[in-house]
Amino acid sequence: MPPTLLCVHPHPDDESIACGGVLARAAAAGARTVVVTCTGGEEGENLAGIDLGGESLAEHRRRELADALDVLGVEGRYRLGYRDSGMAGEAANDHPASFHRADLDEAAGALAVIVRRERPDVVVSDDAQGTYGHPDHVKAHHVTARAVALAADPHADLAAAPFAVPKRYVHTLSRSRARQVHRALLAAGLASPFGDGAEPAFGTDDAAVGTRVDVRPWLGRKRAAMAAHASQIGPDSFFLNTPQEVFATLFGTEEFVRQGVSPTDDAEDDLFDGVTAVR
Ligand SMILES: [Zn+2]
Repeated sequence: MPPTLLCVHPHPDDESIACGGVLARAAAAGARTVVVTCTGGEEGENLAGIDLGGESLAEHRRRELADALDVLGVEGRYRLGYRDSGMAGEAANDHPASFHRADLDEAAGALAVIVRRERPDVVVSDDAQGTYGHPDHVKAHHVTARAVALAADPHADLAAAPFAVPKRYVHTLSRSRARQVHRALLAAGLASPFGDGAEPAFGTDDAAVGTRVDVRPWLGRKRAAMAAHASQIGPDSFFLNTPQEVFATLFGTEEFVRQGVSPTDDAEDDLFDGVTAVR
């Protein structure tokens, strides 16, 4: 049986930005790939000002997501059905249907059922800081951690048989790569998301980042998947307006921190490392 990679993302477009490379790489290697999207992205802005033809933004983003998942070769597609909570401090945080307000065990239970059905070898989500602090990204971390625990718990009253996920990761950006990206953007005369200072403080301590995956052969797919989210990632965004070589610096490596094990010196270059031995 081919291995399965399951990625959990808060909004349509996060899967392409954070994990587009590993999703395309896994699909190319014959693995089954699964994406769970927690919200409809209702609070996104129509940045590119595109004509929605009477559709709501969430309806439009649903089609953009389907196109992006087609580009990445994602077979399993699930939505948890919560409402986008908006940025921290916005009124949408308190919407009763928001992901931010969702009961942790209820959301984790829904995800745990998907985990039991898919039986993934690897699960990926945001880190506990929500990557950049967005409430839905923070929530996605906690919901995923709880779901993986529930899926394995024989006492959890959920559909399908219990399943222990062999490897769980959070996606991240190391401090050294944040600096590298920052310098490459400034050197190309482009704005950096990390400001115009000499050394951005953003990023995870390099010593904690044990898994770096080279996704350069799949950068074209990653870029096309990002571009499919045209309402969110316009041609003028720093994601897409960067020259090819800077884009490769930005996105040619995807970095991860394995969860639930103490850090070791064994650097990994693939999320499926050791998985065949496990199975
Ligand atoms: Zn997001």
